[in-house]
Amino acid sequence: MTFQSMGLSDALLKAISKKGYTTPSPIQAQAIQPLLEGRDMLASAQTGTGKTAGFTLPMLQLLAKKPATYHRKIRALVLTPTRELAAQVQQNVIDYSLYLDIKSTVIFGGVKQGAQVKILKAGIDILVATPGRLLDLENQGLLSLRDIEILVLDEADRMLDMGFLRDIKRVLSLLPAKRQNLLFSATFSREIKNLSNSILNNPITIEISPEITTAEKVNQTLYHLNKKDKAAFTIQLIKEGNWSQVLIFMRTKHGANKLAQKLDKSGVQAAAIHGNKSQNARTQALAGFKAGKIRVLVATDIAARGLDIPLLPYVMNYELPNVPEDYVHRIGRTGRAGESGDAISLVSHEEMSYVKGIEKLLGETLPLRIAKGFEPSAEAPPAPKPQGRQQNNRGGRHGGRGNSRGTNPGGSDAGEKKKTGFKPRRRY
Ligand code: AMP
Repeated sequence: MTFQSMGLSDALLKAISKKGYTTPSPIQAQAIQPLLEGRDMLASAQTGTGKTAGFTLPMLQLLAKKPATYHRKIRALVLTPTRELAAQVQQNVIDYSLYLDIKSTVIFGGVKQGAQVKILKAGIDILVATPGRLLDLENQGLLSLRDIEILVLDEADRMLDMGFLRDIKRVLSLLPAKRQNLLFSATFSREIKNLSNSILNNPITIEISPEITTAEKVNQTLYHLNKKDKAAFTIQLIKEGNWSQVLIFMRTKHGANKLAQKLDKSGVQAAAIHGNKSQNARTQALAGFKAGKIRVLVATDIAARGLDIPLLPYVMNYELPNVPEDYVHRIGRTGRAGESGDAISLVSHEEMSYVKGIEKLLGETLPLRIAKGFEPSAEAPPAPKPQGRQQNNRGGRHGGRGNSRGTNPGGSDAGEKKKTGFKPRRRY
């Protein structure tokens, strides 16, 4: 399958070639033609699969078929959970529409609306938006969704996690009944199935497995230690290993701020990135990180989802996520092309139960180690006894500090209902 054989216009082929793509990724190979035929689509695919081009290219071709009217109407809407993802999608739209007479813009909260409104008033064909700002501007009568021909819900599961269901329903009520609908989601909960049933009309279904090969490309190491020692241990690992470009995941915004401050104080340049940070602060932190001025980015899952950064050498779970799929998403940020990456997780007693859910999802036992000088305290609940599963220490870059021991932490069914059908697979 080639881009040329898919029936894409010369203008799009030129833009694709300018981006340097030679072969369609699997999702592009499966999605583009049915979308060009006007089909609805339900797709399981994450960032990193090329999904954005998968929906943007056919969208542009369909919109470009009709000449733009004097005053442009918004004909396609892409809804995303975060501003970062919205900005990223919009950049893709700009890149691929380079040789077309298509105008687009992005709107999200956290910044003043003036500049966004000005562009909307001048007229656009494609709008990329987060739900809150979209409804806000619609309420003010500053935009209309009555002419939408194509709707894309990107990372729909995240939108539901973030409590956007009501907003999504409200947006749907503002759209014309006849339209093409696309829904992307990394996971398929009952809520997502309900949502897709209510939106999609005889959709084609596409499933692209997560992009990582955990066993082949990512060295996963879990350290068992006391919660209170995590900051000191993190600083030691980063300093002793002379790590740069470390992405640390935190569960809370407050925790992210605190850790970034501690790291900074200890001489490790760090910045926190999460939903409470202004757009400007996030952009600056990301630019500093990419330029190597900031060694560590401390991010919440949601903020990290939209981060447009290439694969990194080090990803750290300062706290384990309680949903196993999030662990896979997180460690998928490491393992750069052709190189292995390190995913280090700090596991306190309270988090031992999450390990089991992750191991089940991955279908493998994860090494659990104890670092010298950071042994978990005796008064804390003891770790469950080893049950004969052999350690397999694949030895990450951080070396063989501490002794390894097998563990089979029990008692959790965290996230089990989401585990069906998951198979880690190779990036295309
Ligand atoms: P996405 O999953 O849409 O966020 O895309 C992930 C990355 O893959 C982006 O940096 C895209 O520019 C890139 N990409 C998308 N399609 C292709 C392709 N066919 N060949 C190479 N890279 C691609």
